[in-house]
Amino acid sequence: MELNKFFRPNILALTPYSCARDEFAGFQNAEAVFLDANENPYPNGCNRYPDPRHTALRQRIAQLRGVAPQRIIMGNGSDEIIDLLIRSTCRPALDNIVVFSPGYSVYEVSAAINDVQVRSIDLLLPDFRPDVKILSKVADANTKLVFLCSPNNPTGNVIPLSTVERICSMLPDSLVVVDEAYIDFADMPSATTLLDTADNLLVLQTLSKAWGMAGLRIGIGIGREDVVTVLGKVKPPYNIGGMAQQMALDLLADTDGFERRVAEIKCERGRMFGELTALGIFSRVLPSSANYILVFSPQCRAVHGFLAENGVVVRLRDQRLIPDGLRITVGTPEENDRLLELLKARI
Ligand SMILES: *Cc1c(COP(=O)(O)O)cnc(C)c1O
Repeated sequence: MELNKFFRPNILALTPYSCARDEFAGFQNAEAVFLDANENPYPNGCNRYPDPRHTALRQRIAQLRGVAPQRIIMGNGSDEIIDLLIRSTCRPALDNIVVFSPGYSVYEVSAAINDVQVRSIDLLLPDFRPDVKILSKVADANTKLVFLCSPNNPTGNVIPLSTVERICSMLPDSLVVVDEAYIDFADMPSATTLLDTADNLLVLQTLSKAWGMAGLRIGIGIGREDVVTVLGKVKPPYNIGGMAQQMALDLLADTDGFERRVAEIKCERGRMFGELTALGIFSRVLPSSANYILVFSPQCRAVHGFLAENGVVVRLRDQRLIPDGLRITVGTPEENDRLLELLKARI
C-alpha cells in the first residue's frame, strides 16, 4: 500500500529530528549517566526530557483499547493530532479536507491555519446523519482527509460503523478520520474494530473527556502502523511532558473508578434528558450518546445569559442548522440539580 496517496511528498522525504534519547536504547537504564541532552543534572522531578515515544503510556492505552501499541500515536491533546494530520497530508492552497456541519470547529480552524480548503457538508436533518451520497460529489482527487465525529459534537448522535465503512471504501485515497472523543459514553463499539478491513481509517480518541484528564493534554490516534509511523516523524519530539505522561499512567490504573464515573454520567444524562424535556421551555431536546445534551429555544441567548449571571455556564451553539441551540454538559448530580432549579425558577 503506497503512502504517497495520503502524505505530502516533503513529509515522506523528511529526515526527522532525532532526539538524544531516541538514539540511546538504554534510556531505561537507571545506572546510566546522561550527558547527551544538555539537561541540568540536578534532580528536581522534571530535569530530564520526557520519553518522546511515550512508551509506557502507549502500551497501557494499547492494552486498554485492545490494539497494538505500534498503531498508536499520542498527541498533546487530540487537537494536536488533528493539526498534525492536516499538515502532513494537505499541501497548502492545493488540497482540501471534508467536514460535516454542525461539527467540531477545530478541524476548520486548523485547516485555515494551514491554508487548506474546507469543504463542508450539512448533516441531514432531523437526526444529523452524514449525507454519504453527496460526499462522492464534494470530495475530489485533492481531498486528503474526511473528518467524521462520532458521537458528534455538538449534536450527540453516533455514526453507525456501517456508514464509516462505506465512506472508507468510497474514498480509498483519502484518510477517513473518525473522532471518538466521546466514545466511552456511547453504547457502541469503537471504529477501531474496522481497522483491519479499512486501511484508510484513522481513529482519534482522547483522555480529556471520559477519563477526566483534560488538563494533561493527551490525545490518541489509532491507525495503520505505517501511517502512524509517518505522523510520528512530524510530531514535535517532546510533545507530552513527562509529568503528564506519568500522571496519566497513574490515573489509568483506576479502571473501576473510570467505569463508575462514566456509568454515573450516563445515568445523569438520561435523567437530564427527561427533566429538560419535561420543563417544556425547550422546543427540542436531542437524545445524546455523549456527555452533553443539545437543547433548542428561541430564547437561548436569554437563557444562556440568565444561567451565567447565576453562576452556571453552558455553551451557546446558536448557529446554522442548529439555530437556537444551547449545549449543556452533564455534570455531577448536584450541578445538574442546580441547573434545573435555575431553569424552573425562570419559568
Ligand atoms: C473535546 C474534543 C476533542 C478533544 O480534544 P483534546 O485536544 O484531546 O482535549 C476532540 N474532538 C472533539 C469532537 C471534542 O469535542
